[in-house]
Parts: sequence; structure tokens; C-alpha cells
Amino acid sequence: MHHVLIIDDSSFVLNVVEKALHKEIPELTVHKAKSLFEANALLKINTYHAAVIDINLPDSRQGEAIDAVTSKNIPAIVLTANIDESIREIVLQKNIVEFVAKSDPNNISYVAFITKRILNNYDTTVLVVDDFKSSRSFIVKQLQKLHLNVLEASSALEAIELLNRHEHNISMVLTDYDMPDMDGLEFTFYLRQHYRKDVLSVIAISAISGQGLSTQFLKYGANDFLHKPFTIEELTVRINSNLELLEMFHEKKELASRDFLSGLYNRRYFIEHGHLIVKRAARYEYPVAVAIIDIDHFKRINDTHGHDSGDIAIQATANMLEECLRKSDLLARYGGEEFCMMMEDLTREQVEHVTEKIRHQFESFRLKLATDTIGFTVSIGVYYGDSGSLESMIKIADEALYTAKETGRNKVVISSSNL
Ligand code: GH3
Ligand code: MG
Ligand code: MG
Repeated sequence: MHHVLIIDDSSFVLNVVEKALHKEIPELTVHKAKSLFEANALLKINTYHAAVIDINLPDSRQGEAIDAVTSKNIPAIVLTANIDESIREIVLQKNIVEFVAKSDPNNISYVAFITKRILNNYDTTVLVVDDFKSSRSFIVKQLQKLHLNVLEASSALEAIELLNRHEHNISMVLTDYDMPDMDGLEFTFYLRQHYRKDVLSVIAISAISGQGLSTQFLKYGANDFLHKPFTIEELTVRINSNLELLEMFHEKKELASRDFLSGLYNRRYFIEHGHLIVKRAARYEYPVAVAIIDIDHFKRINDTHGHDSGDIAIQATANMLEECLRKSDLLARYGGEEFCMMMEDLTREQVEHVTEKIRHQFESFRLKLATDTIGFTVSIGVYYGDSGSLESMIKIADEALYTAKETGRNKVVISSSNL
């Protein structure tokens, strides 16, 4: 959950900015201050992830509010009545993210956009690759001002090593052209063979003039090219727009991976991601569990209480299953009233414990509907054992589910049959 502070002496501006922020980031907590004095009081007791600040306040004429915010390392977006050169000078000397003229309503949406960008940056990692330490450090410093997580490499080979360590989850690479061993072009070519444009953005940087190099970089798969020397504003804008594009890809992918009714992953995602778990488990020789959870006599809920109540039961089931799982487990709505789960690196006893706990929770659960309170049970079929093909593990789990249904329902059946 992120917190943002808006400082402006006009209630009108405060409200317009607040509204724009909530439109862009619905879950945001916004605090408002009408003076430096009020802002200081809030800054003392709260932690903020970003601040939007009017440069001219009744008790702060020289941008003291900006200093109050930036001294706490909070990214600051500065609002001004107009942008003339003298203001630009004052503001650029301060460590701020962006300054925006508030006269134009379009600019207020830009404030919201840039705030969202900053908040997302807290979870975004960028890798800077340059053999020349001082130019690398310059870029790193600018990126840190945007509150990005920054990694550095002094060669393409070092960069590849960092990228291979998946825990870094790198979203963007900024690479120099002229480097020993592997130059920026070769490196970009390598990157595109391993990472698609929707998961990794590549921006090339070079002082070499002429159109040839930038065209070549783009042909090799770079998303963008920055010519040295560039202004900080130019760097910021390019980084922002490329990260925004990545996020759009990500949102689209998320949308296509989710089941609309329950909010869980859908079958398509389960299969896609399940294959990765299978591979990883086989490599590290972890045992795997695949469980299919099916609501017992679900048709009766539909028939007795209506289809809408059936939908509510599906949503409640999704919520309960989600609460029973670890973050690393995979859960999806597999179809109608059937859910599929995948867990790795557990003992058979642990799998028994988890699935039995789930079964028991449903048994004692009561679902409140508009006019009735109902209960329902689930049957669970589980494959447990070595990691084999996903399809065959699902098939064994499905057969175990069938046995659970045949032998009375409200039951867990675990099968370890050979694949
Ligand atoms: P069993 O204990 O053998 O699993 O019996 P069941 O009634 O739960 O299973 P069956 O497969 O016979 O019926 C599942 C029903 O689920 C049929 C279908 O109409 C209903 N269904 C599938 N998707 C949805 C949905 O999204 N919402 C609602 N309300 N019902 C759904
Ligand atoms: Mg059923
Ligand atoms: Mg069914």
C-alpha cells in the first residue's frame, strides 16, 4: 500500500490532483497539506512514497517544502504556476523527479501518470552496462533518483551473469556500445535471443554519431537508442515510456491469465506455468503434488439456490483455497467448479496435511447467501511423487478425484502411481 502527500495552498488544486491520482491508482492513500507547516506535521508522523508539491506556498516562497520532502528521500513532483527559466534553475538544483505547470488540466493527468511510474519503480530493477565507470555512475545516479532498483555491470558478460540470476527480475537493460569482449550490439542480439520485448526492455547508449548505429541497434532488437550527450529529462522520458510499455504488456498478460469470476489464474495459465514448475522440480529432484479440488453436488446449489448463488460459492471456494496455500504454490480455476493446485518440495505427510486441512475447512464452512446459509463439501484427488509430465500427473490426480467421488465424496485420495 502506497502513501502520497500533496502540498498546495489551493483546495481546488488539492482536490483535482487527489482525484487524478485516485483515478490512476485506485488503492492509493492520499494525504493533503495546505502549507509547509501542515506538511511538516504530516511528514513527522507518516512515511510517504511520493509527494506532489506546489513551489509557492504562503509560508514557503523559495521551495522550502521541496527540501522538506527531498531531505527525507521522498520523490518529489513539483507544481508551478508557470515554468520560466528562473524557476527551472531553482528546481533543477533540487533533487526532484519532475516539475509540471499546473495551468494546463492535461498536466494534472501527467502528474498522476508520473506518480504511478514512481510507485511502480520501487519494484522495478534496471541494469546499467558500461565499461566506463564514470559514465555508468552518472546514469546509475539518475536512475536512483527515479527510485528504481539499479544493478551495474562493467561488461556484457558480467551483465549476462546478473540476468541469469533470476532473483533479480530485471526489467530493463541500458547498454553502452563500445565495450571490450562483447560490444553493445552483440549484447543486444544475445538479449533478444533469450528475452522477448514484452519482458525485457533494452536501451542502447552511445556517443558515436550518425544514423547507422542507432538503426542497427533497433534492428538487433533494442527498444530505444539514446545519443550522448543527452539531457536528464530525455533519459527520464525514454525510461518512463519504455517501462510504461512493459507494464502494458504485463497488464494485458495478467488479464489473459485470469479467470473473470474467481480472480484466480485460468487453465491456460496453469498449464503454461505448471510446465515451468515441472521442469524446475525435475532439475532439483523435488517431489511434486498436483491436486484437483471439485465441489461436491454443486449442481444442487445451482438448482436449489440459483446460478448466482452458485457463482458466489465458486468465489468463496477460490478465496478459501487461496488462503490455504503458500505463495510459491500454483492455484487455478480449472473449469466450472473444479480447481487445480500444484505444490513442490513437500513431503507426502505435508501434502496429506494441507489437502486434509482444505477438506476440513470446507466441511465446517458456512456460506451466507441472500436468504439462506448453506454448507458444501469438496472432494480432492492428488498426484504425489516425482515430477513427470504435467498431463500425466493431472490425469492421475483426476482418477484419484473420481475414486474420492465414487467412495462417498468429502474425501481426499492421494495417488502416487507410476508415471
Ligand atoms: P459431483 O459431486 O459429482 O462433482 O457433482 P456436481 O453436481 O458438483 O458436478 P457436475 O459436473 O454434475 O455439475 C457441475 C455444474 O457446475 C454444472 C454446471 O452447470 C455448473 N457450473 C459450471 N460453471 C459454473 C459457473 O461458472 N457458475 C455456476 N453457477 N455454475 C457453474
Ligand atoms: Mg462437482
Ligand atoms: Mg465437476
